[in-house]
Amino acid sequence: MSRPSSAGAGGGGLGTGKASGGKHGGGSGAAAAVAAAAAAAASVGSVAGSVSAAPSSAVSLTTASLPGQTPELTALFECPVCFDYVLPPILQCPGGHLICNSCHQKLSCCRTCRGPLTPSIRNLAMEKVASTLPFPCKYSSAGCLLNLHHSEKPDHEEVCEFRPYTCPCPGATCKWHGSLEAVMPHLMHAHKSITTLQGEDIVFLATDISLPGAVDWVMMQSCFNHHFMLVLEKQEKYEGHQQFFAVVLLIGTRKQAENFAYRLELNGNRRRLTWEATPRSIHDGVAAAIMNSDCLVFDTSIAHLFADNGNLGINVTISMC
Ligand SMILES: [Zn+2]
Ligand SMILES: [Zn+2]
Ligand SMILES: [Zn+2]
Ligand SMILES: [Zn+2]
Repeated sequence: MSRPSSAGAGGGGLGTGKASGGKHGGGSGAAAAVAAAAAAAASVGSVAGSVSAAPSSAVSLTTASLPGQTPELTALFECPVCFDYVLPPILQCPGGHLICNSCHQKLSCCRTCRGPLTPSIRNLAMEKVASTLPFPCKYSSAGCLLNLHHSEKPDHEEVCEFRPYTCPCPGATCKWHGSLEAVMPHLMHAHKSITTLQGEDIVFLATDISLPGAVDWVMMQSCFNHHFMLVLEKQEKYEGHQQFFAVVLLIGTRKQAENFAYRLELNGNRRRLTWEATPRSIHDGVAAAIMNSDCLVFDTSIAHLFADNGNLGINVTISMC
């Protein structure tokens, strides 16, 4: 997990070493040899169109011998196209073959008998049977042992600890997903332009905060044997009202994140704005933090109060608790 990263932690360096803004994955890799002061102030600007997409991975399901399970019955609910479960509202072709809702939307005829799928035909009897059965979590093959009523499945799967991790970089451009252990190697290979700073107390310098449109600034901070992702995002959460959102995410589980606290501080011109919170796990993602305003939120006027030559320095301190 050792990424060649610049030393030069600690404060200072504000207003020095203006890093060029560029898209993720582009630009020059942030190498070790950057001067300490410049490194402490380096950042990566990235223009992003939208927020991260929800994971769409289809982990193959097994119905084999889970406790409290009736495998023969639940197997009847397997979609013949995607092997996910066909759950209420349950649709079928005129020949009686079941098909799940997401496949039903994509297909015009039954994969088994070629019968038409419109108009939709519901199967109320199978819906009643489905309501009496426990279904395994979508991530059972990854280790989740939960069996749930179909109405509880989507909510659980959203927060299931066995759900694959998606790429934590903001913006919907990277479709990568995988295990937690694979996240750092992925970032090192696919997002080389993201700068990493060592130490619990660093300065995250976002350059050119006046860039128009939705913009992300991302960097990594390594301390306490963990990696944290610092994200500053400018976007219009409410129409016509641009805001900045700054948050720290742990490359780790929600449980691990509870061991830490972080502080973001804007300082300057005889003013100070501070936010303290528990880091979010990358399992939740940046979009969820912004959606819930669980981050440092400020508008463009405040950003300009603290900016220096169009660059905004954010002091980031991470501590264990
Ligand atoms: Zn399907
Ligand atoms: Zn059919
Ligand atoms: Zn689960
Ligand atoms: Zn990625």
